[in-house]
Amino acid sequence: MATRAPTPASPPVEGGWGYAIRRVWRNGSHDLFGSTTDRHQADRALARDHRFWRSGPVRPAAVYVVATPACAVITHPVDGCRNSSCPDSSQRGEVR
Ligand SMILES: [Zn+2]
Repeated sequence: MATRAPTPASPPVEGGWGYAIRRVWRNGSHDLFGSTTDRHQADRALARDHRFWRSGPVRPAAVYVVATPACAVITHPVDGCRNSSCPDSSQRGEVR
């Protein structure tokens, strides 16, 4: 950190609660992405994802918004995660 950058428009939240998109695949794995503190933005990202998959030959089993600590999204595996303790609820504070 050489210089102190100005605060960006959407600063990354560290440790705070936010929302993310959870995409579940038919093989039982899932993705977690699109961390945001804005529920409305999460809903828009969700709608975008739905539109994207609607036209494709491969479709996820489910895509929905979950409440999650931002750090859980940042550290989440990018590919083929099957951890049952990952955020899977739209309500805060239910991470086991
Ligand atoms: Zn996971």
